[in-house]
Amino acid sequence: MDRLVKAITKDGFFRIYAADTRGIVNTAQKYHQLSPVCSAALGRLMTAGVMMGTMLKGDSATLTLQMRGNGPIRYMASVSDAFGHVKGYCANPAVDLPLNSKGKLDVGKAVGRGTLGVVKDIGMREPYIGQVPIQTGEIGDDIAYYFMQSEQTPSVVALGVLVDTDISVKGAGGFIIQVMPDCDDESLTRLENSIGGMMTLTEMFERGMTPEEVIRYVMLGFETEILESMEISYRCDCSKERMERAIISLGREQIDEIINDTGSAEITCRFCDRKYTFGREELKRFRDLAK
Ligand SMILES: [Zn+2]
Repeated sequence: MDRLVKAITKDGFFRIYAADTRGIVNTAQKYHQLSPVCSAALGRLMTAGVMMGTMLKGDSATLTLQMRGNGPIRYMASVSDAFGHVKGYCANPAVDLPLNSKGKLDVGKAVGRGTLGVVKDIGMREPYIGQVPIQTGEIGDDIAYYFMQSEQTPSVVALGVLVDTDISVKGAGGFIIQVMPDCDDESLTRLENSIGGMMTLTEMFERGMTPEEVIRYVMLGFETEILESMEISYRCDCSKERMERAIISLGREQIDEIINDTGSAEITCRFCDRKYTFGREELKRFRDLAK
């Protein structure tokens, strides 16, 4: 079971989120038949998404991360809530690129340059929408840039997905360290120095480190206090009703066209591949409800 842990340092200078998302990214890989570089790209985005979702307040709040780039993936999205549920979508899941100069999956190239959009819907009439240019396409850098530019919160964001030779996901997860406004320079320098010499996320996955161990390791030299540990999972909230509403919103003319063309409609949820089929009689009912 995947888990997310929240912690603070006792001095109150840093807030830390760490998540193990191996199960979530494996589920996404299976639903979308993700290639290794797409598992890495969408897996990193969903890892950030699930952590950022738990920063939201409110039972019905959702957080959507969207990356639109000129790389071959073109578009990716992650939708999460405050309870650790997340779902993801990748427009072109079959992207295959040579490894980058460091011998790693080339997420930056697969994403390309473009925009990172952050939509926070906390149940108010208008959702909060933030948008920043993609910096490297490696996702972690881009999320950190977003925190700095849009939320004025300096952050360390580390996201990683380790893909096995059989394309299953061997390890996935990451952490976010947020610097609180009253943090002093000495503590900040101490953190920067320790991060420089840290092992990589891949090494942490290979050691099978738990989120708590990751927090203790990355915050070495600081006294930390665990605030919360929660189960997190891939979950799609699609339903027949939601698909019905989507069809009704097409309008009478289009629904009539479907009735005349094929007499039935099959809709596949883009987040979980669940299929919904509607027959002629249902479509006629939708047409009567449509404008
Ligand atoms: Zn679904």
